[in-house]
Amino acid sequence: MRGLREIMSDDEPGQQKLDRIVRQIAGVMVADVCSIYLKRQDGSLELFATEGLNPAAVHRTRLKRGEGLAGRCAELGVTVNEPEASSHPAFSYRPETHEEVYHALLAVPIERSGQVLGVLVVQNRKTKEYSDEDVEVLQSTAMVIAENLVSGTVAGTGAAIEFSRSQPLVLDGEPMSDGIALGHVVLHEPRIVVTQLMADNPSVEIERLNGALEKLIAHIDDMFEHEHLAFAGEHREVLEAYRMFAHDKSWHRRLREAVEGGLTAEAAVERVQNAMRTRMLRQHDPYWRERQRDLDDLSDRLKRVLAGRITSADEPSSLPSDTILVARTMGPAELLDYDRTRLRGLVVEDGSSQSHVAVVAKALGIAAIGQAAGVVERVNAGDAAIVDAVAGEVHLRPTGEVIAAFSDKVRFRARRQKRYMALRDRPAITKDGVRIGLHMNAGLVVDMPHLRECGADGVGLYRTELQFMLSDSFPRLDKQTQLYSSVLRESEGKPVVFRTLDIGGDKVLNYLRQPKEENPAMGWRAIRMAIDRPELFRVQVRAMMKAAAGQELRLMIPMVTAAAEMPLVRALIEKEVAFLKKHGYTLPSKLLVGAMLEVPALLFELDEFLPQVDFISVGSNDLLQFLFAADRTNGRVASRFDVLSAAPLRALRTLVKAARKHRVPINVCGEMAGRPVEAMTLLGLGIRSLSMAPASVGPVKAMILSMDVGKVTDKVENLLKAGSESVRDELEKFAESQGIELEN
Ligand code: PEP
Ligand code: MG
Repeated sequence: MRGLREIMSDDEPGQQKLDRIVRQIAGVMVADVCSIYLKRQDGSLELFATEGLNPAAVHRTRLKRGEGLAGRCAELGVTVNEPEASSHPAFSYRPETHEEVYHALLAVPIERSGQVLGVLVVQNRKTKEYSDEDVEVLQSTAMVIAENLVSGTVAGTGAAIEFSRSQPLVLDGEPMSDGIALGHVVLHEPRIVVTQLMADNPSVEIERLNGALEKLIAHIDDMFEHEHLAFAGEHREVLEAYRMFAHDKSWHRRLREAVEGGLTAEAAVERVQNAMRTRMLRQHDPYWRERQRDLDDLSDRLKRVLAGRITSADEPSSLPSDTILVARTMGPAELLDYDRTRLRGLVVEDGSSQSHVAVVAKALGIAAIGQAAGVVERVNAGDAAIVDAVAGEVHLRPTGEVIAAFSDKVRFRARRQKRYMALRDRPAITKDGVRIGLHMNAGLVVDMPHLRECGADGVGLYRTELQFMLSDSFPRLDKQTQLYSSVLRESEGKPVVFRTLDIGGDKVLNYLRQPKEENPAMGWRAIRMAIDRPELFRVQVRAMMKAAAGQELRLMIPMVTAAAEMPLVRALIEKEVAFLKKHGYTLPSKLLVGAMLEVPALLFELDEFLPQVDFISVGSNDLLQFLFAADRTNGRVASRFDVLSAAPLRALRTLVKAARKHRVPINVCGEMAGRPVEAMTLLGLGIRSLSMAPASVGPVKAMILSMDVGKVTDKVENLLKAGSESVRDELEKFAESQGIELEN
């Protein structure tokens, strides 16, 4: 370690440093080969330095993303320890390296805060399994190399350049919530960057570590005591395991040993975290993976304690007024934790446009981008940033000219918004005279003023769970009654469709004990919970009925899967009607009970199901995720299949025909309803009512005013008959030829 530190501090070009490092490691580890591969922008690995392999292969040998054992190590971020590497199925032989004589191979990722920058490899002629000690030495070395790559000490190697955190940079992502936002970065979980690896005074570091461990344990014990009162069962087990880790003597011992080996307390935490992660990832048991998450979380907490920052997110009051939140991952409840008046934009490394965090971002009216790989590594808190959720790009540290150009764009969008405002009071009637119902989706009382601003005909979907997610405990009857009364008051007589609780999937209530599920989106959620545990459902229905005394009440049931579920739900509702009557309350003047159509099974039971409901609304977000078996929250697959293709459109056409036959009003309230080209297609399929985020009402109305629904219907029919593969392209071309406005 000391030798490494000397090499790093020497004033010589980066390449020479890497050459010296591989020589030194080969010597220390008695390895025949030591090589450093660094990641290029395209994800390939390039051999940057080697001791033992043919020197002519340096900068020539490149492994494609995931190729070979080194590629596997980089791709999965795991240590590879292979006594007989050449017989491993993933082995990739490169003749120019002359590596055929080496059998054993140990590869560790050169990794910085979860981001793999390259791979450090040792090889030996003799077949052998490297010891745990070898693995730890190599991991520590990789950490030092990573640190210096990031800080630029070995700049000039090409790989470090990508990591600079001071230059302007544009990253691609996928739009999750429309808009353009200019502001300043706040890191959701401020990353603790370990800046000093080697300790100047190990005994001081031991003291710091001991003090921090004490604080951490006290903090967790506190949390445990507190939570312990409120919960039992599953939730408690999870906390117990977490607490057990915090108290784990062998974890403490490993941390101390790492400090005694010369690392600072922070560096020791990171190193032990990496080493344990490698070990746990070898386990396939989901239990261990979960424990690994606990450990990661604990280690991050410990680093925050060491840095004097115990809380994970900035206090709302310290948020800048133009906050652009940047996170690896964010759940809908976490986003709601922030002061919404200060949020302008959101950038996450995962996420998709149909995930609930996207739904919340839309409800909050903030521009959001998902799938922005590597963004967390590339920003500093306080950096200027522009979220362009129209193009799906985030501009980090933009130059003055870029800021000026985007400010123009924002002004332009504001003008367009004004134009939409001018359409606000015009009814949505197509050129051939068909009136379309345009409703908005909402989830919080503060959304309600949008109703007047956007000129929607009513609230087509009120997602009641959002308010529950904001609360610390289950809202009681009175609180709920007040809430629904406010919503009805603010709707000023326009209809509101209240959807009963849909908890599950990525919508979690921390205070509600729920069994842990492998697949919560397909688990015990929504109506399933209501049928099994009617108390919560009945309280909610009672609150809605009290709020709607003397008025019309529209109730909508989410996730109905079988026609036979409707009588069960109706019976629960009837019980509430009877209860209120008995106690002399005024009932709603009219009660309509509808259902979400978002589970494909219902499509095959329409003749039994439709007669039992007063209206239906298509939840295309869930319907498509289940139809395509593509997780709506998983960006990799969520947009893989196009809703504008034959299968889903035929499913919707079947549904529209059946709804007509049974005279059941049908609406679409999933995200597709708010995108002009999709909305146009829905109208072509016979849908006459749509519900969407308030910001989409203007663009969709502009589309409706410019379309002839008869012509669109013929076009859609023909495309479906022909089974065209490029339905979207064809429809866009058609819209252009007809002068239909499709701007978002
Ligand atoms: C849907 O599934 O399309 C829907 C509108 O409901 P949610 O997005 O809340 O699941
Ligand atoms: Mg849904």
